[in-house]
Amino acid sequence: MKKSLLFLICCTFCIGSLFSQKKMPQKQVAKKQMPQKQKLYTAKCTTLRDDLKSPTAAVDTTPGRNIANNYAMWDNATELTVKFMNSGSQFMRERVMQYSKEWEQYANIKFKFVPDNTPVTNMRILLGEGFGHNSYVGSDANDISQSKQTLNLDTLAFVSYDYYIAEMKRRGIKPNMVDLKKMAATEPVVWNNREMRGVILHEFGHALGLMHEQSYPGAINWNTDTVYNYYKRVQGWDKRKVDNNVLKVANQFYTNGTSYDPKSIMHYSVDAWQTKDGYSLPANYDLSSGDIALISALYPKDKKISVLEVPKVTISNFQKLDVENNSTRQGISMYPSFDLKTNSKLGEVYVVAMLVDENENYVKDNNDSYNWGGYVAAYPKLLLLPNSQVSYNKAGKRDLELFIPYSEIPVESGKKITFSLRVAVHDVANNQLIYVMNRYIDTPVSITK
Ligand SMILES: [Zn+2]
Repeated sequence: MKKSLLFLICCTFCIGSLFSQKKMPQKQVAKKQMPQKQKLYTAKCTTLRDDLKSPTAAVDTTPGRNIANNYAMWDNATELTVKFMNSGSQFMRERVMQYSKEWEQYANIKFKFVPDNTPVTNMRILLGEGFGHNSYVGSDANDISQSKQTLNLDTLAFVSYDYYIAEMKRRGIKPNMVDLKKMAATEPVVWNNREMRGVILHEFGHALGLMHEQSYPGAINWNTDTVYNYYKRVQGWDKRKVDNNVLKVANQFYTNGTSYDPKSIMHYSVDAWQTKDGYSLPANYDLSSGDIALISALYPKDKKISVLEVPKVTISNFQKLDVENNSTRQGISMYPSFDLKTNSKLGEVYVVAMLVDENENYVKDNNDSYNWGGYVAAYPKLLLLPNSQVSYNKAGKRDLELFIPYSEIPVESGKKITFSLRVAVHDVANNQLIYVMNRYIDTPVSITK
């Protein structure tokens, strides 16, 4: 396995062709003309981690993260700090703040919008152009650099009556109100902000940990060939990407005992030609009663802890991985330094260090010892009490060692290796192994057997 695949492991993704035809007035505004009805841009909810970096990036393959990712829930009653990445008009910022806060009525969570220059925040919004709409799922945002956005809203896809007038004013242009009203009447959900509100609710749903409802097991009987062709033609996606983002069915666990909810804001529209049985759904623009019930259970207002809470650990302040050839014990010793915090459940945590050879492949294991999924690794298990906070290999201490004897490393002496360091939580009750940290340590170390 190439090490490039390492980076796909703990990502989150989903896509949704939630909203379709949009119009963008900017060019017309510049020419002091009314916008013509034409399809200039189609925005999709792509909520793929890599799509936050590039609209053409590869897609992740992590299974079983749908409906609600219980392992990416924020702590209940958290006040999430949110800032804009020096982007977007005041009008658009106000809509984002206004609509996102609808979730607060039902979830015991607050979005606290803070100034753009706030150095550390939980969420960061880019009101950009061309990246589509997408968001990291829940607390996965913790893993993202403070210099990067965690949620994209694509303003190319937003046109509304208010926005259009505000934009014209900003540019010193007097709109022709008669023509504008005619235009707005052609697609009311677009021009009356309803669609924009729906997109914002949907993306903030992801930011709270929700996934696409169309992944509910058994929900959609997809006409796969047609869907492949469609996404190939419209998005340029290969089959793998379509599989991962459109056709993937969630693990039943992540449904949290809910029923399939076709009215969920997290469901995207389905055309009849996409399904074998002609099933279709219009786009949803409002929170459904199912959305409200699920988010209320995940973030209960009347309890400190949700009944749906699962074991979860948060990694922070990762500093480095010290690696040494240990001639006395004939092996390599690794000392990662980081802080780890558990939630209200007992945490069974594995710290996994895998080796990467000079060809950028994981070093394959040839026996059952030091074997993590077929690859050579050290993976000590830590048992942590609920609500505990621990630092490892900090302040001059060496209190967590990952050791692999040379006899278990099929790499010639003198060759260089690099490392993949992961942290995984084992949810024993639900039989789930969830990666919460995944880093590639590219400082090479020579094996000196
Ligand atoms: Zn989405």
